[in-house]
Amino acid sequence: MGFFSSIAKCIVAVFEFAYNWLPGISLINRQSKHPVAHANRIVKCPYCAEKATVVARRNSLYFSAFLMNIFEIKKSKAYPVCSKCLNELPQNFELCLSCREISEHKSEVCQACGSKIKESER
Ligand SMILES: [Zn+2]
Ligand SMILES: [Zn+2]
Repeated sequence: MGFFSSIAKCIVAVFEFAYNWLPGISLINRQSKHPVAHANRIVKCPYCAEKATVVARRNSLYFSAFLMNIFEIKKSKAYPVCSKCLNELPQNFELCLSCREISEHKSEVCQACGSKIKESER
């Protein structure tokens, strides 16, 4: 049985090698300098519940070959993420500057602490 499993391992390795070297399209996700809602502000992340910073990330499709990304084919729009868990935050949200809770619904007051949300905080 050991013989067959080592052959299987060889086949997988050959395919992985070919997949990495042959020309193709790869999806790259990285930090972006594009402005997103509330960039660099501190928010209470709804996913990890930590106080984190809002950072922008962006997906782009690259034409790649020989283990290199040669040129960018398609840029996607930057989106805000939590700096701690990297989960995607809503594209537009309201941020309460008192308790740092975020909300996707437009409202005058924070749903969590009842503080007034100013126009400038949107
Ligand atoms: Zn988070
Ligand atoms: Zn609040």
